[in-house]
Amino acid sequence: MKVLVTGGAGYIGSIVVEQLIQAGETVVVFDNLYQGHRAAVHPAATFVVGSLADRSAVDDLLNEHRPQAIMHFASHTLVGESMENPFRYLGENVTNGLNLLQSAVQHGVRRFILSSTANLFDEPARMPIDEAETIVPGSPYGESKYILERMLYWLDRTHDFRYAALRYFNAAGASAERGEDHHPETHLIPIVLSVALGKRDKVIIFGDDYPTRDGTCVRDYIHVIDLAQAHILALRALNRGSRVYNLGNGQGFTVKEVIQTAREISGHPIPAEIGLRRPGDPDVLIASSDRIRGELGWEPQHADLRDIIESAWKWHQAHPHGYEE
Ligand code: UDP
Repeated sequence: MKVLVTGGAGYIGSIVVEQLIQAGETVVVFDNLYQGHRAAVHPAATFVVGSLADRSAVDDLLNEHRPQAIMHFASHTLVGESMENPFRYLGENVTNGLNLLQSAVQHGVRRFILSSTANLFDEPARMPIDEAETIVPGSPYGESKYILERMLYWLDRTHDFRYAALRYFNAAGASAERGEDHHPETHLIPIVLSVALGKRDKVIIFGDDYPTRDGTCVRDYIHVIDLAQAHILALRALNRGSRVYNLGNGQGFTVKEVIQTAREISGHPIPAEIGLRRPGDPDVLIASSDRIRGELGWEPQHADLRDIIESAWKWHQAHPHGYEE
């Protein structure tokens, strides 16, 4: 199958591209290199640099490459930034997605996978969070993803569009060749590992007064390769109908547990200091992935936090300056 991957030069997108190619698919990457890196794009993929804001560029892309399916990763993805600059999310994330969907319908592409988010669940009634949970977006970022989910819902009903919305919890880890390299970096595991590499003095723990076992926030870290496999399974299942899945390991770890595990793996003391809470952080986010396990047979292969951090540590050691060497 020929798959168009928007954001295929970014962290998750580039690893999904790698796994798609290993699974024998043909891949076209479309990325504006805003957060992505040319060096992250698998050499066997066709790479087109461009912006989803440019509708005619998207039309040209689909005309020329005629993909059978689209995986849409290209997006602004930071909760905090979206609280400061909501229009970047409610504007760009939404209109870029709309451009892509309109062009897809026009060009007869009716298979679509959306990167969605755990930020749809700001007030979960139950933990772990399953797909029956009430949607309460936690920020303009989460709202922008929810708007795209709703567009997909209606395209399914009006245009025989088949989609999967995959709601990621905390993607982490690396493949042998590709890893996480954001500017600026805001995510816990790469920040902790940059301390171990001597690039930062310490990590600030954003609050230790949450109602959790050690006072720090609990998150469900899912290995990016397991996440990639879920995309491939979802792609192959689209013929059988549209679907929405929560994706995590079903296990939560605190910020302090992540830091301690990184100390054990790296052998570095990784100094940590308690700071203020980060606005918008829920205390606990853990996914129930029973639905995708049951329906598609998805089974995480790297569910252990140690495996996840070890893979990231190997990649960061091999690429101490990220993709910029
Ligand atoms: N966190 C932290 N210090 C940092 C970065 C993150 O204490 O420098 C915490 C953050 O408050 C959250 C957890 O680590 O509880 C995971 O944050 P991250 O930004 O990696 O992912 P998020 O859960 O926001 O998607």
